[in-house]
Amino acid sequence: MSRKYRVGILGATGTVGQRFVQLLENHPQFEITALAASDRSAGKPFSEACAWKLAGAMPESVKSIVVEAIAPPLDCDFVFSSLPSSVARETEEAFARAGFPVISNSSAYRMDADIPLLIPEINFEHLGLIEVQKRKRGFEKGFIITNPNCAIMSFAPPLAALDRKFGVESVFVTTLQAISGAGYPGVSAFDITENVLPYIAGEEPKVETEAQKILGKFNGETVEKSDFIVSAQCFRVNVIDGHTASVRVKLKQTSTLEGVMEAMRNFPSLKLYSSPEKFIDICDEPSRPQPRLDRDNGKGMTITVGRLFPDNIFDYRFVGLSHNTVRGAAGAAILNAELLIDKRIL
Ligand code: NAP
Repeated sequence: MSRKYRVGILGATGTVGQRFVQLLENHPQFEITALAASDRSAGKPFSEACAWKLAGAMPESVKSIVVEAIAPPLDCDFVFSSLPSSVARETEEAFARAGFPVISNSSAYRMDADIPLLIPEINFEHLGLIEVQKRKRGFEKGFIITNPNCAIMSFAPPLAALDRKFGVESVFVTTLQAISGAGYPGVSAFDITENVLPYIAGEEPKVETEAQKILGKFNGETVEKSDFIVSAQCFRVNVIDGHTASVRVKLKQTSTLEGVMEAMRNFPSLKLYSSPEKFIDICDEPSRPQPRLDRDNGKGMTITVGRLFPDNIFDYRFVGLSHNTVRGAAGAAILNAELLIDKRIL
């Protein structure tokens, strides 16, 4: 067994940071050697700085690690970043410039032309942007890669399956997003209890633009974005984990329902450590997917699709569901790191 990569986590005390800590416990390729967060946490052991909010105990191995400030260098080979975008831009660049690969979960760099926005099963060839980025930004050993917005993960995979086979012309999506998507303490109980909030700051533009880059083609220098239009409305709902997307899609080329189903069902998963057996799982039960029942499908890494039918206005409609802090955040970034190892970039 080759050596484990030493990992730092920026934003380690937060909702996504804690999920990184949980998913990296006993990971065969990675060990956590550095944790960093805000001035409120720096200087304290992780056990004291972090109010652990996940099921199960905080892993013993991280309890005594002293949280550091979010500035390079850290004692690690690369960093995962789960910082708020307000601080991510400057900090992630500083780490990349200091020679650290940055595997980011923040939105700060996702749409920059030279930054890969990755879902490994869909677009690993976008990794070619790393060389472009190094050249343009003058990074030597360091670089930045990103994973998509958590709501996108609930429907970009089935969309990719349809786009590859039939071409996608337009998409109408309504997202029902979990409370944990807002971080901790996030939305107040007073606001969300017995309620649905029809506004998530900054979310709709992300949902309307990221999929075209993810499904775009890398031409050796840049990603030519796909040309379909997305219209999105994003809601916060009273669910702890698991983002749901209600999707209607118009295709460029017509298909039978069976053809659409097969395209999704046959979209292959990868063979990386965190890859689920099924990338997209189609459930037949009329009342599924549901966040509480289906978010942990494939250890939180599978996208569950249901309610797939012809639509009266668009061609087809379906409901997609994914775990927002696993496939939509920490799990996605860890899969990206595994991809970098697989492609011998790390
Ligand atoms: P969170 O629970 O609010 O955690 C934020 C983390 O960043 C904490 O560790 C916090 O440290 C640290 N931090 C905050 N302000 C800082 C500052 N000025 N300087 C240094 N560190 C600072 O947020 P989150 O939900 O984990 O989200 C983190 C990032 O992931 C965001 O960019 C978010 O958009 C993205 N994201 C989140 C989800 C999700 O489902 N939650 C999904 C996809 C992407 P302290 O504890 O010391 O304050």
